[in-house]
Amino acid sequence: MSVASTLEDIRSKEHDIDKYLYLRDLQRQREPEFYSLLVQHTEEILPYVYTPTVGEACQRYHHLPLVPRGLYLEAGSENEFLERMRAWPLQDVRVVVVTDGERILGLGDLGTGGMGIAEGKILLYTAAAGVDPRVCLPVFLDVGTNNESLLQDPMYKGLRQHRLRGAAYHEVVASFMTALRQWQPHVLVQFEDFANHNAFELLNEYRSHACVFNDDIQGTACITLAGLLSALRATGKSLAEQRILFYGAGEAGTGIAELIAIALERRHGMTRDQARKHCLFMDSKGLVCASRTNLQPHKLPFAHDLPFQRGLLDAVKTFRPTALIGVSAVKDAFTPDVIQAMSSINERPIIFPLSNPTSKAECTFEEAFSGSAGSVLFASGSPFSPITSNGVTHHAAQANNAYVFPAIGFAAVLTRASTISDNVFLAAAEMLSHMTTLEELDRGILFPRFSAIQAVSVSLTAAVAEQMVRAGEGMPPDDFDPVLSDVPQPAGTSAWEAYVRSKMFKVPLHSKL
Ligand code: NAP
Ligand code: MN
Repeated sequence: MSVASTLEDIRSKEHDIDKYLYLRDLQRQREPEFYSLLVQHTEEILPYVYTPTVGEACQRYHHLPLVPRGLYLEAGSENEFLERMRAWPLQDVRVVVVTDGERILGLGDLGTGGMGIAEGKILLYTAAAGVDPRVCLPVFLDVGTNNESLLQDPMYKGLRQHRLRGAAYHEVVASFMTALRQWQPHVLVQFEDFANHNAFELLNEYRSHACVFNDDIQGTACITLAGLLSALRATGKSLAEQRILFYGAGEAGTGIAELIAIALERRHGMTRDQARKHCLFMDSKGLVCASRTNLQPHKLPFAHDLPFQRGLLDAVKTFRPTALIGVSAVKDAFTPDVIQAMSSINERPIIFPLSNPTSKAECTFEEAFSGSAGSVLFASGSPFSPITSNGVTHHAAQANNAYVFPAIGFAAVLTRASTISDNVFLAAAEMLSHMTTLEELDRGILFPRFSAIQAVSVSLTAAVAEQMVRAGEGMPPDDFDPVLSDVPQPAGTSAWEAYVRSKMFKVPLHSKL
């Protein structure tokens, strides 16, 4: 069957979940065709193999007619982890996306239904960056679920126990990491959709000595900093002049703030503590400040000595932020009053309602645009339609992590990186923020078009790989030639870009790392 007729088949299905199931079957039965579709029609196919459809798939995972594609490992069988890995059909695995299913998208604890997120997210490595799918492995680590309806569901296939916590939990993750790295010493591990307390703890536990990152914390930070730096190119102001108010103080918010602080420290000569003072937080109880008690550890660095404020409008009026970032999943939190206050304080207010899905966004593009008389610099987590005003079309930038994490991961794979440092996320953000023209920025285009994702990923992968090698975090690949060979390349191509291109997966399946 040709790609065109397969595409017709998919389009003819009424429900998104049927398109999802069709594409899963295609991947299992006619792999080359599936990957041709994914790489050549990325924008059209992605919503059915990844968000938003994958959310529904994870919720209904045990009731859908599907064959799990990832490796399933459960607590209690730690002694067999390595054996099961060695029995896996693929034996040259370089990228793992692992989840324990506790915080799937904004949908909460979905138990082993979370396998769907690992299976979906790993496809972005191939779709966005061109990583060979045969080196990619989704993994689900089953430590139980606290979702009572799943525990009662006769169809549920995961462990019927409440989630392990504390030392018992960390031991299961440690068994997994040890077995994995024994099996594949140079593997990159992406932690995905872990609940906030475990996400921070696991990242801190492994980041200094293993090639790991957490996309919910660090990928989000990278894309948001890129958006912020792009917005600042439009305002002509520097990051050091910003006061950023975060609405929501979880994985996403504190991850973003930490990377902003790192940027201020490394590029503007501040101490980390001075830098963190540029970021203010509100959580479900109000302003995160020094007078608060029982704050979770990840909030403490941002608990500044400031007068407590209960409401967002009061906080905006009191602290006069230059940028407002929504990571609370509270719909309509950015009220017209808040948007107007931001616009009266700033000539070009930066307002990023990042919460997903669309139904959770702190405000819509329309609300931010009209409430600021068109002066807003806007980015959201979910897509919004463009707005035409006075004959000019203005776009809502979408802060999609897929611009950055597949490229960073690919660079780590190519250089067999030992760790992924903050400098990598900082450099990727800076580079991405320069991929749009000033004229585009003026119309709200803070990121390159998603349809150009593969070209964007080549540039980012090359720049990140080069930096990893320079910093001693990665090794130059054996077959990397720093002098461009005789093979003709597009003008301006660096040796690293040429190398990355040569390592990209091509359909039908004929390239291998
Ligand atoms: P999280 O770790 O659960 O954090 C949510 C935060 O929101 C918590 O600090 C919570 O306060 C706060 N919050 C809840 N209700 C609130 C209220 N009424 N007022 C003020 N703050 C409130 O979640 P997360 O992983 O950071 O994700 C947050 C949102 O960001 C999600 O919707 C997610 O989809 C989105 N996100 C977007 C992107 C992207 O655009 N690229 C990437 C990642 C995440 P407490 O701490 O007091 O509970
Ligand atoms: Mn996630």
